[in-house]
Amino acid sequence: METIIHQLKLSHNVFIGSHINPDGDAVGSLTAMALSLVSLGKKITMYNQSPIPAVYSFLPWVDRIINQTDIKKEWDTAVILDCGNIERIGRFASQIHAIPTIINIDHHVTNTGFGNLQYIDTSACSTAEIVYRIIKKMGVSITKDIAASIYTGILTDTGSFRFANTNRAAFSICDKMVAKGVNPYDVAKYVYGTYSLGRMKLLNLALDSIEIVKNGKLSFMTLTRSMLEETGTQPEDIDGMINYAKRIEDVRLAVLIQESQGQENQGQENQDRSLIASDEPGLLHVSLRSDGSIDVSDLASFFGGGGHQQAAGFCSDMAVDEIKRHIIKWLEQSNPELCRC
Ligand code: AMP
Ligand code: MN
Ligand code: MN
Repeated sequence: METIIHQLKLSHNVFIGSHINPDGDAVGSLTAMALSLVSLGKKITMYNQSPIPAVYSFLPWVDRIINQTDIKKEWDTAVILDCGNIERIGRFASQIHAIPTIINIDHHVTNTGFGNLQYIDTSACSTAEIVYRIIKKMGVSITKDIAASIYTGILTDTGSFRFANTNRAAFSICDKMVAKGVNPYDVAKYVYGTYSLGRMKLLNLALDSIEIVKNGKLSFMTLTRSMLEETGTQPEDIDGMINYAKRIEDVRLAVLIQESQGQENQGQENQDRSLIASDEPGLLHVSLRSDGSIDVSDLASFFGGGGHQQAAGFCSDMAVDEIKRHIIKWLEQSNPELCRC
């Protein structure tokens, strides 16, 4: 941590980025780091390739996050947040190496250790927890805006203090953030408040798509492009739906297969939309959740993705049925006792 703090203190102009299809941790860590560095007199650029989900638009400076850029020679330092590998930032990954110092701040077990300086703590509940430790040590004065960002990162990554990564720090930091003026009820209203009618209808289709296999231990949920079109929803509306597939009694492993947008459309406009749902056009995004008895970060790594023990993901150009077959086979081989009927 000391070397990272030293580098950040020396920096003048910092690129800050987080992963595509951002969650509350990716957005909150980004805005918290940006506000903190600016308070220390640094110039910053905030980058995220994907649109920021509307539920996070209450966070400070979200409107300043850019989704496209070329490399700028003024950038002396890059801070990459909540990314298990550098490709998670999207297209800009191919240019980032021109930035002299890349700092990797993350909590994924599958982190590849990319960059020049790393602060990876898999016991942290969220990247926001690590960002909090860093900015505190740097002597940043935590404003209400910074507090809201950190609070939201922790709240969302712990599933409102329900997931297995919920630790003491989650509670103690959030308590401090509330003392700085964050109103938990307001944040909860923004993040979990209301669903559009389209989202409700999408949930209906998502629930209807659930298939249960392996004696009830494995559930598949599949969301197609046409379901989004039919309900007038955006990929961000899919957030959290996998939890329904996971909550079913006896299910140990829940899988959500999400079809990319605009797979057949190669036009510029559609190509951009295609990058919303999956990491590249034509790919499927697969989310994995487990009850803790199966390490889904292993399963995701098998497909070239990554994540945590109980929540992971990957992208694939295989067909839906092929992905299902591979997952079943992986489960049979890695957890034979679970598959015995
Ligand atoms: P998701 O299912 O997309 O919400 O992601 C669950 C966890 O897996 C998150 O911590 C993600 O950062 C991680 N993850 C998702 N997709 C990928 C991927 N393609 N490569 C690496 N990690 C991923
Ligand atoms: Mn994340
Ligand atoms: Mn995270």
